[in-house]
Order: sequence, then C-alpha cells, then structure tokens
Amino acid sequence: MTTAVAAPFRFFALHVVRTRRLGPSLVRVSFAGEDLRHFLSDGWDQSLSLFLPHPGQTAPAVPLELGDGWWQGWRELPDDVRAVMRSYTLRGLRRDPDEIDIDFVLHTPAGPASAWAGRARAGDRVLLLGPAVADNRAIRFRPPDDTDLVLLWGDETALPAIASILAALPAGQRVRAWLDVRDARNARDLVTAADAEISWRTDGSCLDALRAAPLPSAERPYAWIAGESGSVKALRRHLAHERGIDRRRITFVGYWRQGLTEEQLRAAQ
Ligand SMILES: Cc1cc2nc3c(=O)[nH]c(=O)nc-3n(C[C@H](O)[C@H](O)[C@H](O)COP(=O)(O)OP(=O)(O)OC[C@H]3O[C@@H](n4cnc5c(N)ncnc54)[C@H](O)[C@@H]3O)c2cc1C
Repeated sequence: MTTAVAAPFRFFALHVVRTRRLGPSLVRVSFAGEDLRHFLSDGWDQSLSLFLPHPGQTAPAVPLELGDGWWQGWRELPDDVRAVMRSYTLRGLRRDPDEIDIDFVLHTPAGPASAWAGRARAGDRVLLLGPAVADNRAIRFRPPDDTDLVLLWGDETALPAIASILAALPAGQRVRAWLDVRDARNARDLVTAADAEISWRTDGSCLDALRAAPLPSAERPYAWIAGESGSVKALRRHLAHERGIDRRRITFVGYWRQGLTEEQLRAAQ
C-alpha cells in the first residue's frame, strides 16, 4: 500500500439513479453512466472531483471538446455558467449494473454542492473527474507496512472515507477512531473486521476527547485525519508535538474550512 501509481484520471458522464436520506443532514446519491465501466478504484479514501450544474442548467458546463485545454476553457467560462467543482469521496462502487455512491453532508447555510445534493433527483446529470486506475494518487490513506496502530479522526464530511477505510482494514489491525457528527442520527453503523474502538461525539468535543485520551501503546502508529481545516491542523500539531508521532506517519487533509468556499480554500492552500 505504500507506492502510488501515477494515475490517469478521466471524465465520467453520470446521472443520478436514486437518492437516500441517511440522516437529517446526510444524503446518499447513487450515480450510473455508460462510462463507469472504465472507473477503477481500490477504495479507501478515494477522492473525486464532481462538476455540478447551476440551478436551471440541465448539465454541468465543462468544455470537454477542448481536450487537454478543458481546464483553461472551464476557468474562462462566466461564473454563473461554469460548472461548480467540488471534492467528494467514493463511498460505494458496484458492478452489474455499474453504480457509485457519494454521501453528501447537507450543511447550513448550503453551498452550491450541498444545495444540489439536497434537491438531486433521478436523471440529474453531473460530470465526474475520477480514476481509471485502481491505485491512484487520490487515495491518501497509506499506512506504512509496519504500522501497529491506526488512528482516525474525522467530522461528517470524512465519515464516508472513514467508513470505507474501516471496511477495508484487515482483521487484527488495531484501530482507534474518533468521529465528530453534528447530529447523532447521522452516525452510521460502521462495519469492520479490524480490532477497532470507535468513539462518536455530537457536541464538537471530539478534538478535546482525543487530546485527553490515553492512546493504546504503539511503536509505529499511523494517523489519518480529515475534516474542517482548522481542526485538522490543530490535531496534526497535537499528534506530532504532544504525542510524538512522526509527521511522515500522519496523513492530514482539510476537507473544508469554516467561512470559505472550496474555491477559496484551494486558493488559500
Ligand atoms: C478530498 C475531499 C473529500 C471530501 N469528501 C466529502 C464527502 O464525501 N462528503 C461531504 O459531504 N463532503 C466531502 N468533502 C467536503 C466538501 O468538499 C466541502 O464540504 C465543500 O465545501 C462542500 O461544497 P458546498 O458547495 O456545499 O459549499 P462551499 O460553497 O464550498 O462553502 C459554502 C460555505 O459552507 C461552508 N461549509 C462547507 N462545507 C461545510 C460543512 N461540511 N459543514 C459546515 N459548513 C460547511 C463553507 O465554510 C462556506 O462558508 C470533501 C472534501 C475533500 C477536499
């Protein structure tokens, strides 16, 4: 799991097949499309770039006819025409028929992606920039082979990734996970063969809980943390400085930042 293949990514033209409320502010959207037969992923925390239409548009505006020049062409489209690009996580991949699932947090006030997910209906069209190679660089969860303890922390936006990571970890792998959800009804049953201890919090105190928690003794821990960017940074500092975890064994990803849209977050990084 330690070597990433330089990944070819490609566009997939998809449509919504169904939606399902998983909790008060969590909706699962399932997508299908001819192209999905070329979609390959090892799963884990596989991230995807989703291109969404604005209200009133029937399809997302991305100038695919420009070939490799699509990015420049897309950026030059007017703000109210250019498809909204947002990052999400692959939550499910099925074959026969080919379908993928993405779990969207419906946050308030809603941004364009959250609003889109809240009103998504069967037939709605999106474009996905995703992997055509199973082991690709949009999978960030990469514990070194000698890892003897996996630490996971995430908020609701990281719940899909953590659920997939836990489902894929083998029996015997020691795991300690902390999940911050805003509503207990968004907490899901997590399936894992790993030797996992999972803590849920709904009062935003997960960070403090983790700071105060005695960690199981481990010589070679690996930590994966994702969610609100300020919390992620604070936690990374804590794990590196106060817990003495080697920074190279900490994967951290700011999934969103309080007060910033995803475009603004990307520009600030
Ligand atoms: C690699 C990666 C994987 C991700 N996977 C998922 C996933 O599987 N599911 C998922 O729901 N999200 C996921 N996210 C987070 C998602 O991309 C952001 O929440 C995104 O900002 C939502 O876009 P938006 O258009 O709704 O809001 P934006 O237009 O980006 O933001 C509008 C406002 O809403 C605030 N905001 C954004 N997200 C939240 C939130 N979750 N809670 C409260 N306020 C928020 C912003 O700070 C801003 O003030 C992922 C992000 C990354 C980088």
